Amino acid sequence: MSPYLGEPRDLYHGRALCVLKPRTAREVGDILSLCNESGAPVAPQGGNTGLVGGQTPDASGASVVLSLERLNQIRAVDADADAMTVEAGVTLAQAQDAAQAADRFFPLSLASEGSCTIGGNLATNAGGVHVIAYGSMRDLALGVEVALADGRLLSTLGALRKDNTGYDLTRLFIGSEGTLGVITAATLKLFPRPRSRAVAFLGLRDPAQALKLLNFVKGRAGPTLNAFEVASRSGLALVLRHIPGTRDPLAQPHDWYALVELAAFADGEAERAGAEILAAALDADLAQDATLAQSLDQAGALWKLRESMSEAQKREGGSIKHDVAVPVSEIPHFIEEAGRRLREAFPQARPIPFGHMGDGNIHYNVSQPVGADKAEFLARWAEINAIVHGVVRELGGSISAEHGIGRLKRDLLRETKDPAALDAMRAIKAALDPNGILNPGVLL
Ligand code: ZN
Repeated sequence: MSPYLGEPRDLYHGRALCVLKPRTAREVGDILSLCNESGAPVAPQGGNTGLVGGQTPDASGASVVLSLERLNQIRAVDADADAMTVEAGVTLAQAQDAAQAADRFFPLSLASEGSCTIGGNLATNAGGVHVIAYGSMRDLALGVEVALADGRLLSTLGALRKDNTGYDLTRLFIGSEGTLGVITAATLKLFPRPRSRAVAFLGLRDPAQALKLLNFVKGRAGPTLNAFEVASRSGLALVLRHIPGTRDPLAQPHDWYALVELAAFADGEAERAGAEILAAALDADLAQDATLAQSLDQAGALWKLRESMSEAQKREGGSIKHDVAVPVSEIPHFIEEAGRRLREAFPQARPIPFGHMGDGNIHYNVSQPVGADKAEFLARWAEINAIVHGVVRELGGSISAEHGIGRLKRDLLRETKDPAALDAMRAIKAALDPNGILNPGVLL
């Protein structure tokens, strides 16, 4: 059972009665029905890539781990309706491939796409690098099939674009982290497949310049802007140090970087627009230096720098993580202020901010001081959290932009969420899971 009892960050280790691997939605319902009668807690699990401990059973040893990995069928692809229905255990990469085989595009994209699953993506309302263009998982599903605590299957599946018949149950289950029901399948939106792509990597002075650049590119690229990611030099330096085969794409080091991707539908259109926008941005002093990928390989190498950020930090030792959102306009202020307060309290700690600037979502990670003891550093988790989240709160931000709440941020949620909203969430939970068997200890 051990692969199902730990998680990628090694923060949570659970125990379980057993791991069950049903093959059909009906079997999932039957399992929930039995657990509901016997009072056994259920910990639903997809690809086990979550970053907040939402997929790990608690330490009681009384839980049933419910793995959805064998529900792995693509049920239907309807290219004319721009929709496909897939089961929860289909990996994100498999879903992307199924869309492509029908000459369509499924835009959700994350570093873990080879192993994370659609069920987990839905349960956590995953975001990733194309939210700026397509939204997060809540925006990408037309319907879901859910096994309820009492064993019944509830379905909003189907390719309907308009269905104004009451509460939005689809969106209620998405992001509920397995606490209201177990998602067994979903109908996902498909999009036209981009036929040209341009990826640029730019060296910047500071986050204020990144904000100006973002607005400049938005104004010129419009809906072809597909990703706008930023990272500090501290993050890129760790990637270059720890990830084999990476190299600095620019001649000189810069304090900040942006990775910008455009995608368009006519051959060569994104490349043409990308070259023009880049030249204009350099002219307008919105970047210090820039390079535009000239091949798919080069584009892949630039993306690898961004996607290796977490792995590189892991190899550097202990890292205290924050997945926060503030209004896009406040990003420079947030990064400056969080850095200032951290330096005051922990002069040796190393902030490594990076992430989805276009969505106002920064992964504000703090790496341990060079040579420090990892466990000793990680013991300061709550103190460092309090500093970073304090700034987030002052700016009207969120303590979880895309990773969810899980076990990691449950107590923080209680302190930060609007009390009436929390009461409404608890009322919904009690109505759909009266015996409290669904992922107890997670989210609420
Ligand atoms: Zn992210």
